[in-house]
Amino acid sequence: MTARKEVPTVAQSTETDWVSRFADEVIAEAERRAPGKPIVCASGLSPSGPIHLGNLREVMTPHLVADEIRRRGHECVHILSWDDYDRYRKVPAGVDPSWSEHIGKPLTAVPAPPGSPHASWAEHFKAPMIEALREMGIEFHGISQTEQYTSGTYREQILHAMRHRAQIDAVLDRYRTKDKPGAAKGGKKQQQKPVDEAELAAAEGSGAAAEDDGSAGSAGYYPYKPYCSVCERDLTTVTSYDDETTELGYTCACGHAETVRLSEHNRGKLVWKVDWPMRWAYEGVVFEPSGVDHTSPGSSFVVGGQIVREVFGGDQPIGPMYAFVGISGMAKMSSSKGGVPTPADALEIMEAPLLRWLYARRRPNQAFKIAFDQEIQRTYDEWDALERKIAEGSAQPADAAAHSRATRTAGGELPATPRPLPYRTLASVVDITTGHDEQTLRILSDLDPENPVKSLEETRPRLDKAERWITTQVPADQRTRVREEPDTERLGALGETERASLRLLLEGLDDHWSLDGLTTLVYGVPKIQAGLAPDAKPTPELKVAQRAFFALLYELLVGRDTGPRLPTLLLAVGADRVRKLLAA
Ligand SMILES: [Zn+2]
Repeated sequence: MTARKEVPTVAQSTETDWVSRFADEVIAEAERRAPGKPIVCASGLSPSGPIHLGNLREVMTPHLVADEIRRRGHECVHILSWDDYDRYRKVPAGVDPSWSEHIGKPLTAVPAPPGSPHASWAEHFKAPMIEALREMGIEFHGISQTEQYTSGTYREQILHAMRHRAQIDAVLDRYRTKDKPGAAKGGKKQQQKPVDEAELAAAEGSGAAAEDDGSAGSAGYYPYKPYCSVCERDLTTVTSYDDETTELGYTCACGHAETVRLSEHNRGKLVWKVDWPMRWAYEGVVFEPSGVDHTSPGSSFVVGGQIVREVFGGDQPIGPMYAFVGISGMAKMSSSKGGVPTPADALEIMEAPLLRWLYARRRPNQAFKIAFDQEIQRTYDEWDALERKIAEGSAQPADAAAHSRATRTAGGELPATPRPLPYRTLASVVDITTGHDEQTLRILSDLDPENPVKSLEETRPRLDKAERWITTQVPADQRTRVREEPDTERLGALGETERASLRLLLEGLDDHWSLDGLTTLVYGVPKIQAGLAPDAKPTPELKVAQRAFFALLYELLVGRDTGPRLPTLLLAVGADRVRKLLAA
């Protein structure tokens, strides 16, 4: 975030984009529920493992709506609930198997994975997410559910839920029968449908709650589950409860049994399907989205809507469901972090405004993919094209709104690259220079000699993102390796036309040493050979000749039949080396 300054409302019209429409709805609803109070939007994340990039939608959706509400001058709080008092469910692959002794403890009571500087499992996975959210300019109020529960903040709500346990049980019972075949349905809200094994492992590791409504044991139904005071785990069963004294008896699988007074007991929590609606009422949440699976009958959102009204006397938030966010082409090398990319991984290869844009431009119910493969170059091309339209004033209102939401918040502008050269050009250059700064600067300043790049700083951070992408996401066999020595065999076997085309190219190099100049030159050589004017329209025959010429150049320069765009490649290779490799 740079200087705080006036940021205009994106849209006066309410029809501009989905964010504006939700903001209209939320402001009106907040006025109806609690006039004059700050408006509350909410997200919830479980730090039970690496927080998947797809789960960023859980935060981005309310963030964008809250930001639009702030732009309109309303006070708005974006709560981010860390579900860090949830139980530890599973030891993910790659972590010391002895961590299984902690299964059943709150995430904040489990030691961080070996080698971590953090105090607990939960802190270890929260920290990189918090850092990523900061980099993305997302302003939020984090609430640790461990702190809330262990400090007794929800005391009244817990006692209230226990007094109304029969009523809660009756609500849950309306769905239990329908729910039976898919008992795992309606777990924690931000879980995404896993698309492959790695994601499946991550989803399991991050705590999809199978048993989330409390079970009716022989002693009846209780919506509260204590963590055992001896072994810290939740392998407990409530055996008795006295509404008058609030005395609660429980037994644990470890053999411990005791009676505690719930009016002073701070070591346990409401079951998920009661916990969530309790918090809607407690915080006065007006907007909170959830994943697509959570709007089916018996899901926590639907059941929560009844519990919040019938038990807690509150209202269900406006809660759009959001669709799956997929990833294309996450290279294997990143799997050391658990096999699924996180927002921090994305921010290594793309700038924060671009990542914000991907979420802002799609309605929450539209699925989309985030590219870690070659497609990222096309995504950047689209982004640059939009920026040109914005500058010309020719962008469509919805596109302009998405751009504004991507590049700034009510708090100010996000940092931008001063001179945003095309990502694909930067990627090609660092691919060839392997990150050698001096060489990179020479090539970048040759791109446009009229207005040369004077320092790499002008091109950062985009340059660094492109470099990171090349080194971490592009497989070795797709990297560009310029020949050290000329391919004498191929050069010796050149046909007459080929020989002439190389001569024309080399003769033109000095006069065309810029990105535009070399573009004209490489397309122009086959035209000259065909006796056409430099500005001649391409004919099918000319296209064939151009393709053959380009293939020849790739072969002689990089030993393959394809590679980075030729003008960029020629600039990167340098005139002397081009002469050496192409001299027939
Ligand atoms: Zn125990």
